[in-house]
Amino acid sequence: MRVLVTGGAGYIGSTVAQRLVETGNDVIVFDNLSQGHRAAVPEAATFVHGDLTNREVVDHTLAEHRPQAIMHFASHTLVGESMEEPFLYLDENVRCGVNLMRSAVEHDVDRFLLSSTANLFGTPERIPIDENVTIDPGSPYGESKFILERALHWLDETEGLTYAALRYFNAAGAAGPDRGEDHDPETHLIPIVLEVALGQREKIVIFGDEYDTPDGTCVRDYIHVLDLAQAHILALDALDDGSRVYNLGNGEGYSVREVIDTARRVTGCEIPAEEGDPRPGDPPVLIASSDKIRADLGWAPEHGALEDIIGSAWEWHQRHPNGYQGMS
Ligand code: UDP
Repeated sequence: MRVLVTGGAGYIGSTVAQRLVETGNDVIVFDNLSQGHRAAVPEAATFVHGDLTNREVVDHTLAEHRPQAIMHFASHTLVGESMEEPFLYLDENVRCGVNLMRSAVEHDVDRFLLSSTANLFGTPERIPIDENVTIDPGSPYGESKFILERALHWLDETEGLTYAALRYFNAAGAAGPDRGEDHDPETHLIPIVLEVALGQREKIVIFGDEYDTPDGTCVRDYIHVLDLAQAHILALDALDDGSRVYNLGNGEGYSVREVIDTARRVTGCEIPAEEGDPRPGDPPVLIASSDKIRADLGWAPEHGALEDIIGSAWEWHQRHPNGYQGMS
């Protein structure tokens, strides 16, 4: 299949783009490189340097490359940033997604995969979080993804656009020694912990240690980016049987302290840690139920162990302490 991947120069998008190439698809990556890296785009993919705010460029790209499916990763993705700059999310994220959907409809692309988020559930009423848990987004970020999910729902009804929305929990790990996470600034726990191990930072600050959790620190469901990628490959195939939404996590929760302790074991480094204030908007526990995608698509995590997730990220960070900088 010919698949257009927006945000295909980013951490998750490039990993999925690589898997699409490996599974025999033609891939067109569309990215403005505001957060992504040219060197992360798979060699076999066609690269279009463009911005989704520009409808003409989006239209031109679809007319020229005639994709049969679109996977939409390009997005602002930070809960904290969305609380400070809501319009980046409520305006830009939404506008970019809707521009892309409009072009998809106009160019007869009838398969659409949306990268969505566990933040749709805010502070959830029950754990593990299945697809029937009440949606009550925890931030403008989560809300922007929910608006796009709803837009897809209506475009399915009115235009026959078949879609899948995959709501990720905490994507982590590296797809290989030369493909990993590289954000600027970095805000995510595992890469920051590994930067401490590398001596690039002095310490990790634990955001809150008085939560109602076994050790007082927040519990999250870390899912290997390769397992996430595999779910996209399966979901794309399944679109022939209709639209669907899935929660996507490992189903295991690890506290911030457990992540730090595991990273100490994996790296053999001390990794100084210090307790700090809670980060606004962080719910105490987020753990996915992925029963639905397991049952429907036969998906199961193959790299679920936290040691493997952190170990793969450690290999990437050691080999590329400056991320994609200097890579071609
Ligand atoms: N966290 C932390 N210190 C950091 C970064 C993150 O204690 O420097 C915590 C954060 O509060 C959350 C967990 O680690 O409970 C995972 O955070 P991350 O930003 O990686 O992902 P999120 O859960 O926000 O998607």
